[in-house]
Amino acid sequence: MAHLDSNLAPLIASAARHLRNARGVVTVGDLLRMRPTRYLSYDSEVTELRDGEFVVLIGTIKSAHTRSMSTRKGSMLTAVLTDGHQDVDMTFFNARAHENKLLPGVRVIAGGQVGTYNHRRQLAHPGYTLLDEAAEAALPGLYPVYPAIPKLHNWNLVQAVGLVLDALEPLPDPLPAPLRSRHRLPGLGETLRMLHRPETRAEVARARERLRYEEALVLQTVLAQRRVQRAQEEAALAIAEGGPLLTAFTDRLPFTLTAGQEQVAGEIAADLASTVPMNRLLQGEVGSGKTVLALRAMLSAVDGGAQAALLAPTEVLATQHHRSITAMLGDLAEGGLLGGSEIGTRVVLLTGSQGSASRRRALADVVSGDAGIVIGTHALLQEDVAFYNLGLVVVDEQHRFGVEQRDVLRGKASGTPHLLVMTATPIPRTIAMTVFGDMETSTLTELPAGRSPIQTFVVDEHRPGWLERTWARIGEECRAGRQAYVVCPRIGPGASGGESGGESGGDEEGEVDWFSDGFGQGEQAPARPEMIGVLETFEELSTEASLAGLRIGLLHGKLPTEEKDAVMRAFAAGELDVLVATTVIEVGVDVPNATVMVVRDADRFGVSQLHQLRGRVGRGGHPGLCLLATRAADGPAGERLTAVAATTDGFELAQLDLRQRREGDILGARQSGGRGRLQFLSLAHDEETIATARADAAELIAQDPDLSGHPELAGVIEEWLRREQADFLEKT
Ligand code: ADP
Ligand code: MG
Repeated sequence: MAHLDSNLAPLIASAARHLRNARGVVTVGDLLRMRPTRYLSYDSEVTELRDGEFVVLIGTIKSAHTRSMSTRKGSMLTAVLTDGHQDVDMTFFNARAHENKLLPGVRVIAGGQVGTYNHRRQLAHPGYTLLDEAAEAALPGLYPVYPAIPKLHNWNLVQAVGLVLDALEPLPDPLPAPLRSRHRLPGLGETLRMLHRPETRAEVARARERLRYEEALVLQTVLAQRRVQRAQEEAALAIAEGGPLLTAFTDRLPFTLTAGQEQVAGEIAADLASTVPMNRLLQGEVGSGKTVLALRAMLSAVDGGAQAALLAPTEVLATQHHRSITAMLGDLAEGGLLGGSEIGTRVVLLTGSQGSASRRRALADVVSGDAGIVIGTHALLQEDVAFYNLGLVVVDEQHRFGVEQRDVLRGKASGTPHLLVMTATPIPRTIAMTVFGDMETSTLTELPAGRSPIQTFVVDEHRPGWLERTWARIGEECRAGRQAYVVCPRIGPGASGGESGGESGGDEEGEVDWFSDGFGQGEQAPARPEMIGVLETFEELSTEASLAGLRIGLLHGKLPTEEKDAVMRAFAAGELDVLVATTVIEVGVDVPNATVMVVRDADRFGVSQLHQLRGRVGRGGHPGLCLLATRAADGPAGERLTAVAATTDGFELAQLDLRQRREGDILGARQSGGRGRLQFLSLAHDEETIATARADAAELIAQDPDLSGHPELAGVIEEWLRREQADFLEKT
């Protein structure tokens, strides 16, 4: 074996470089936590080998010969490997490096990709190791295959891992012994051995089970610590319910809260009344009445002498919030103005595209405290925005914001403000327990009365007449006095590629989000036709006979702000019949008279995004209709659309969405502030493990809040947090 060792020193150096470049694998720990995607046994029959397959074979070199090549320098070695019945050629273009080793009669284990040349099976430049009797006897039962790393042969990687394993000192185990024995999990050293050099599939399963649990425990311990820490922090303010502003607002509300809303309002009020800062996630379908509850909380804050900030993901949405909140408040929003209500306050809007004079006025109102309610986009996060006394932060449609952005805003308060995060995207339980695991959650399950059902159909654009029928349907609705949306995945031809390609920039950067990726794990996006844009659709509809005489508007992120605003206003006022738009309208837009939603190239959108879009219709007394037009009705994209069409249950769809995304996208930068580093735990499948670890972590932190009795676990967590921090710094 000594010769193998001596050759490996330079090999590991270069392996280390490729590992770092391709996967950020730097430490021994990183390497040993790389998850083999599959395992091979060595008993493949040569006759059963298929082209392209990666295989590992054990055999004897039957013959070997070197010949010079006509087309390139050097010589080529072909060694024939036999398993006793069948032969495979091993070919190398640098004969000299191998001809002294691959001599007839030696035993080798070789791994590589199967190919065919001149009707013979071959492995082109495979990895291999010479075997003596002892080495052959010591081979593990299964051979691991790691995720592909550019320029690094799996063979070399296996060897590098083996060297590291052999050099390893006994490992301290981050899992507390009582938990390990409670769940019958193997120790860390044994786990890593079973992961990388398993004898049986059962060992692989055991190793994975332990690492899954460990990841879940680390995550949950971090979250448990955060919850405890937060409970010890002082809130900026304990706010009692029932102040004059809230009371006046309640008196003039034109409807009564649903039972669900009452309950959540109670939960929020109880949080606000405590000095422990609220950290609550409010989830509820679009139109379930979250905003009213947020407004109540904001009014309470003002009653308590503090300010409230509402952070919205897009300018359209911030502006709409400003408009509707100002309208709901009436003269209560004219505090300090001549003729306004005495108990009222002022509501200001801060967006990126605001003129500098108006921005200066708004900033002055915010810093003086004259504005009790401040609504805005990312512009709220800028450094020059200073509050008089920020007591409550509300984040709308949270999936557009990362944790860091929430924290920037919270940092603008002198104490710790209360935090209410709202989302219309139903959050599966595993996500609630992880990504939002440090928050309390409230859920609105019923819609206010008077909402109508939405029907959804998939429109196969390749079928003759179907698209025409779609436009005709819009025509009928509009002539009956209703309105329609037509949504496209991008602005126009020539706009840069990607989902909603040309949309990024300024306040609208949230338009492309983590929901747009509908592809499954490791699946490659097939080549697809150019996406349809709003510009060409607008043209098309303007000359469409069945829409003759109807007023058609155009809305996308690249329009000047005033124009966007004017278009949205006109549509809301019923002065436009059809609105052709990008996903700027995805969240929060509320036009109850709109009844039809057509999504073009619907396969280009993620499940949750389609569900969000669909929520724009059926908000009034008329039934909603959603038509998902696609040119890819056959295949997986079509199945996804059919699934969306089949249910309006947001939780069911969220589960579907989760299954289709990579873990990295879920715990990815936008969500958790770190690149996905869950290797073994699956948020889509490991609900039970996560729930168990959550309970274990709570118990652990209750007994040992600073983990001083668990230094190994504390070390792993520290490393985890350090990386999260590093990722954050990298991004800013
Ligand atoms: P969400 O923010 O959850 O999408 P909103 O708070 O915007 O929902 O509510 C959608 C619409 O329903 C708004 O026009 C709102 O005024 C109205 N609404 C909210 N609560 C009720 C209720 N209890 N009864 C009737 N209408 C309601
Ligand atoms: Mg809303």
